[in-house]
Amino acid sequence: MSKRTTVVVIGASHAGLAVSHKLLRQASSACIILISPSDKYYFNLSTPRFLVKPMSLQPNQYLYDILPTFDEYPSGAFNFVKGLVTGIDFASKSVQVSSAKSSVESSTVAFDYLVIASGSTTPAAVGQGSLKLPFKTTPFEDTKEAIADAQARLEAATSVVIGGGGPLGVELAGELAETAGVKTITLVSKTSMLLHDATETVQRKAEALLRKKNVEVLKNAAVEAAEQKADGTGWTVTLSTGRTIAADEYISTTGSIPNNQFVPKQCLDHHGWVKVDEYLRIVDGGKSRSDTYAVGDITFYPDRLLSRVSAQASTVASNITASIASGLSPNTRLTKYSPAAQRRMMVVPVGQSTGTGHFGGWTLCGFLVWFFKGRDFLTYEAPKFLRGKQ
Ligand SMILES: Cc1cc2nc3c(=O)[nH]c(=O)nc-3n(C[C@H](O)[C@H](O)[C@H](O)COP(=O)(O)OP(=O)(O)OC[C@H]3O[C@@H](n4cnc5c(N)ncnc54)[C@H](O)[C@@H]3O)c2cc1C
Repeated sequence: MSKRTTVVVIGASHAGLAVSHKLLRQASSACIILISPSDKYYFNLSTPRFLVKPMSLQPNQYLYDILPTFDEYPSGAFNFVKGLVTGIDFASKSVQVSSAKSSVESSTVAFDYLVIASGSTTPAAVGQGSLKLPFKTTPFEDTKEAIADAQARLEAATSVVIGGGGPLGVELAGELAETAGVKTITLVSKTSMLLHDATETVQRKAEALLRKKNVEVLKNAAVEAAEQKADGTGWTVTLSTGRTIAADEYISTTGSIPNNQFVPKQCLDHHGWVKVDEYLRIVDGGKSRSDTYAVGDITFYPDRLLSRVSAQASTVASNITASIASGLSPNTRLTKYSPAAQRRMMVVPVGQSTGTGHFGGWTLCGFLVWFFKGRDFLTYEAPKFLRGKQ
């Protein structure tokens, strides 16, 4: 039997799982080694609902075991390594993997092809100047515990300030406004309208729905500082307008932080995202590498959305399959990824039963927002993403 081609995939979330499954279905001679600190798939899109309303969704709707989804492939075609990649050595075509947070124990995994799908985190997910809320998983942290802690903190809060008027800030405010405990919600937006990237109709609708739910919306105001009391019992939030707000909790919904600590600096742009060419091959010191691809949030494309993952993962899987088949010939026909060709849409629930959004140029009414997203925050889609079938 001929030797299998080893494809190492870093990160087992939406993008890494999509590439792994798509490759296993297409490239029969490939052996996938998927490396990630957790063997659970976390459907983080539904966090605004279940962190605020713990009984609204069951854990089995947003936390899944990854390994059984790979049982369908031939033995030897898939391996999972639980660990954190700490370095890439292109010269020896290998990655270093640490198996525990504090451990110095590390191993080396060799690759023929490498896919970087290490994604991003957020200030709130790592508790950086914000109440710690698991909007993303944190390496080697018990996700269930982190969820329970966050739910308890939100349940105890009577006043919350949210920094950031994007989709996540609006969704969180809408959910919090429907709980009995939280009496005061303030949403702070740096821009003159909420939902900066949406159409004006959608922006106005989001604000009107929140005001109707008694959310105070502050526009043209940036959070300059958010300080937690030493005993952890409250926050003081200072705005660019000079106003200071005291609240039980402050939640930051702004900013994405690249998970790039292991990526050689010459492959990163000025903001720390991985540079890729139109085929999603990484650009290393100005030159595309034929053996390494990046996919999902970690790439330098500014639309960091799950809705971008499927097309990117298909591009990477088909390019690696073609390269394996041609023996990495320079004449290999590769597929391009076009960010401009991706559909522009935004669906933003404001509470359980309504919301706003647009699909291309079409504005979505509250019922359609409920139907597509608000009723269960897209958890019905999670099994498809888990199996790379989206
Ligand atoms: C709260 C929230 C709500 C969202 N809602 C929507 C929405 O409604 N619609 C939408 O389209 N998008 C939404 N998004 C964006 C969406 O979550 C991201 O686009 C998506 O998570 C990107 O997937 P990914 O696999 O590229 O990265 P991630 O989901 O960030 O996953 C990266 C994976 O890599 C692992 N990893 C990191 N570093 C290493 C390492 N060194 N070694 C090994 N593994 C590593 C991580 O543990 C993780 O498993 C939302 C984002 C947030 C935060």
